[in-house]
Amino acid sequence: MADCIFCKIISGAMPGHKIYEDDDFIVILDIFPATDGHALIIPKAHYTDAFELPDELSAKVLPLAKKIADAQREVLSPPGFNIVQCNGVAAGQTVFHYHLHVIPRYDSGKDIVTWNQRQEKTESLEKTCAAVTGKLDGLI
Ligand code: 5GP
Ligand code: ZN
Repeated sequence: MADCIFCKIISGAMPGHKIYEDDDFIVILDIFPATDGHALIIPKAHYTDAFELPDELSAKVLPLAKKIADAQREVLSPPGFNIVQCNGVAAGQTVFHYHLHVIPRYDSGKDIVTWNQRQEKTESLEKTCAAVTGKLDGLI
């Protein structure tokens, strides 16, 4: 896609610090890393988000993330990882070409994946549970 930053990096029109490439994906270092080693797994074809990404590629993403993390563990020694992915503006997505963040973590804390938790009424949990379960019956 012409105005997509990641498509430009994939085509070589823009530079990127590439740590891995195969037929389906490139893996680059994030230009504004949250931590040392913060990597992005990006499909070579343009898909906006996880909902557009074909199941065949989805199935390859987490095994690849584990390999990237294994390599990072060897050389950077992080005691933990966040593996996160954003879909849509409301979820904080800023580049609209699917990518999975693999973020080595050296400290403790939820600051990279943080949310405000709240007390919820049992009736509300039950209502949502029934609604989503009912819809899933027709989808799976
Ligand atoms: P999102 O917010 O969509 O989940 O993540 C987009 C990520 O892409 C951000 O972490 C941002 O730092 C990174 N990013 C944005 N532009 C570039 C770029 O030109 N090169 C690289 N390597 N990363 C980028
Ligand atoms: Zn793209």
